[in-house]
Amino acid sequence: MSADVIIIGAGQAGLSVAYFLRRTARSFLLLDAEDGAGGAWRNGWRSLRLFSPAQASSLSGWLMPATTDGFPTRDHVIDYLTRYEQRYQLPIARPVWVHSVERDAHGLVVRSAERSWSARAVVSATGTSRSPFVPTYPGREAYRGTQLHSATYDRPEPFAGQRVVVVGGGNSGAQILAEVSTVADTIWVTERPPRFLPDDVDGSVLFRRASEQWKARQEGHAVTASGASLGDIVMVPPVVDARSRGVLVAREPFRHFTESGVVWADGASAEVDAVIWCTGFRPSLGHLAPLGIVHEGRVVVRGTRSVDEERLWLVGYGDWTGYASATLVGVGRTARDTAQEIEAYLSSPGMTTMAAPQ
Ligand code: FAD
Repeated sequence: MSADVIIIGAGQAGLSVAYFLRRTARSFLLLDAEDGAGGAWRNGWRSLRLFSPAQASSLSGWLMPATTDGFPTRDHVIDYLTRYEQRYQLPIARPVWVHSVERDAHGLVVRSAERSWSARAVVSATGTSRSPFVPTYPGREAYRGTQLHSATYDRPEPFAGQRVVVVGGGNSGAQILAEVSTVADTIWVTERPPRFLPDDVDGSVLFRRASEQWKARQEGHAVTASGASLGDIVMVPPVVDARSRGVLVAREPFRHFTESGVVWADGASAEVDAVIWCTGFRPSLGHLAPLGIVHEGRVVVRGTRSVDEERLWLVGYGDWTGYASATLVGVGRTARDTAQEIEAYLSSPGMTTMAAPQ
């Protein structure tokens, strides 16, 4: 099986690269581990909503259909991504788990347990959702309560009547705290004091501000800190409600676990039934290990292209692969640049075009 380009991952980033590759004569195929469309959105919790309105959350080419009841829900995003694949008739093989990308005499070989694909260029768009991060804490293994990461959190009901620690000061932490605190007694633990956006500022304002900064930086102008200093947490309705209930009070990280709870540096302690880790994710890059280019969880890139493997591009992993590239509205710029760079590379003298994928 061969194609000019193999895209590993058919979440928003992979779809965006495919949208631009469609404009070239290159053969390409997306491989994705999920049973259906939607990427990480398939694993978001039931009440998860975007933190920007639909019109500020679209992939290139097709505006996300508007919603009538606030920001788009997780299911609205999954439906949009499903229809996006169909609209552009993107060739996707799923479920396929890619366990390795290797070099051979002709190019790169992408392998799953059952098959392999030869390619002249590979795009890794595997996101982060499959690599949840939990910080190390002394005694965590001996703690007998429930522990789960936001990646597997679904709804508040199972925590009813319990005492729950929510760790993490980002949007996940604030939204899950807001929800769980309606049924349980909660303690919010954040590394630094949480930074809330003004109520009238949603993700689209953040993105617009930060775009201005990105453009100013590209043009060599000094950049004010206005966008970055705005804050992190978008005041979506459930978080506003939590604030009115006095729940949005965070305390510093505890020092260690006991079998039944946690202890702070000042000796204060709390018996807790559960800990929900809203401590983020790391890039899912295990499939790239055979290339010997992953160092401390990242790949050195120029733009999105690997510096150490010229036939490999990485898209959608956040700012190190392009400003705001981990967002629906932000990934298009780097996806377009990636497709153009691949086309230029495959058109360079001495490169032969692969047959269409069989
Ligand atoms: P993913 O969506 O994770 O897709 C990667 C795909 O690759 C998945 O289908 C995965 O199964 C597959 N894959 C991974 N490894 C392999 C492998 N080895 N072989 C084959 N397939 C593989 N973004 C916004 O734009 N707006 C928001 O409002 C917003 N809110 C968010 C709220 C929360 C709580 C969180 C956690 C994220 C939010 N995001 C938001 C970010 C957004 O969800 C992610 O950044 C986005 O899903 C990343 O897209 P992606 O295509 O890079 O990765």
